[in-house]
Amino acid sequence: MNENVPTRETDLVVIGAGPGGYSAAFAAADREMKVILVDAGEHPGGVCLNRGCIPSKTLLHIAGLINQAREAAGFGLKFQPPEIDLAGLRRWRDRVVGKNAAGVRQLARARGVEIVRAWARLQDSQTLVLADASNHQQDVGRVRFDKAILAVGSRPSIIPALDIDSPHVWDSTAALELSDLPASLLVIGGGYIGLEVGTIYAALGSEVTVVEMTDGLLPGADRDLVRVLQSRLTRTFKDILLSTKVTQMAETGSAVSVTFAGAGGESPAWQQSFDRVLLAVGRTPNSDRLGLEKTNVKVSARGFVEVDQQQRTADDHIYAIGDVAGDPMLAHKASRQAKVAVEAIAGEPAAFEPRAIPAVVFTDPEIAWAGLTETRAAQRGIEVQVSRFPWGASGRATAIGRNDGLTKIIVAPDSKRILGVGIVGVGAGELIAEGVLAIGMGATARDLAASIHAHPTLSETVGEAAELAFGTATHLYRPPR
Ligand code: FAD
Repeated sequence: MNENVPTRETDLVVIGAGPGGYSAAFAAADREMKVILVDAGEHPGGVCLNRGCIPSKTLLHIAGLINQAREAAGFGLKFQPPEIDLAGLRRWRDRVVGKNAAGVRQLARARGVEIVRAWARLQDSQTLVLADASNHQQDVGRVRFDKAILAVGSRPSIIPALDIDSPHVWDSTAALELSDLPASLLVIGGGYIGLEVGTIYAALGSEVTVVEMTDGLLPGADRDLVRVLQSRLTRTFKDILLSTKVTQMAETGSAVSVTFAGAGGESPAWQQSFDRVLLAVGRTPNSDRLGLEKTNVKVSARGFVEVDQQQRTADDHIYAIGDVAGDPMLAHKASRQAKVAVEAIAGEPAAFEPRAIPAVVFTDPEIAWAGLTETRAAQRGIEVQVSRFPWGASGRATAIGRNDGLTKIIVAPDSKRILGVGIVGVGAGELIAEGVLAIGMGATARDLAASIHAHPTLSETVGEAAELAFGTATHLYRPPR
């Protein structure tokens, strides 16, 4: 450490300016703490704003437009196939990202939060060393702090056996660059990031194959929801290979030769070439290279910083939030934890104990769930009652030509209290908000069934699923038992 670099003092330093970090910095400044927000990135907003949620949803919106225009032929409305102007798409994506990043900067300025671009590492429990953001080598400053919040996020995981140095093998960041449109794309990993990126490229014209080691897409999500999505994805994608492992990859000129094998070793290995390969096999918390060993912070075997319900680490001066503090790695979980951490630092009563963290997969159709899933209930031996309302019985779903949907609610059999809500269908990501509120407020199926849902909307499927908890629903007759 260069002792001659300038040292500053602050109440709170936040490391990482993603949705967790900037939310924490803003909440602390609103309480009149002196805050410094440090990030190595060129723009604030972290992974979510710069290379995650926002660019992916911008491009998914475009994919949705392409698909809708194509399907309109079935309604008697024919469009010409679209002309894809990749440079134009990139410009639009950059404008969206830029506008959001400028908004974060402006909000920071208005609150007096200083954003410092630097690579940070801890020297001890109350000192942060700032190094040059690009080379991480040259120290440029030091911050003495009373409290620090680690909001350093996560990065794409790597499978060592598949870690070949090739420009044709992408992680999610490279895929969202949209540098070119490959004729064929292999997506390794059937989780939400792989399916979302696959959906974008398939709409733009690539032949997309998805390979997943387990026997189903979106491990962890309820199978009845996934089935609805999968039946459409089998048409969107060229191939979906389940229970299949990629064992080897090699660059062959302008393509990548991929070796597949049955995950259980049952089928003989085979090879296939793809123009590009996307590795989307999960994310790794950025808890290394932070100097945590010089503090009392404890890190789990998976690399997550261990925290209590107030987001406190084992070190009195240090808190952690967002992806680096554990699953689920979602932006809205990070920003909620940010508020809890700041409230705890300010001595206010606070705890991160959500009843429902919504999960949304922005595929076509979308899948969203909140609270208890049927899968989790079965694993934990919790007795539940499940009612399902298929969108074939929804007037609005029929009007938009999208009956491929299902809304289900999971209730406690006796009290009919809502424990979980799961939705697959167009706009599921918006519809799930009602489920989150219902679970959070301790509502019962009766409360939901008696709430008046506007007609004709897809939200009626939530009310009708709740009605079904008592036997029958207006648009779905079930004879009494
Ligand atoms: P991050 O957003 O990861 O930010 C961490 C910041 O810390 C980064 O800017 C990094 O530069 C900085 N940093 C790290 N180490 C240091 C250091 N030592 N010094 C200085 N700076 C440092 N989530 C959703 O909820 N909805 C979605 O639709 C969604 N879509 C996604 C799509 C993709 C393709 C990806 C990759 C992720 C997506 N996510 C989504 C996940 C979401 O991006 C993360 O959960 C979220 O960004 C986590 O926020 P965070 O504040 O914990 O950290």
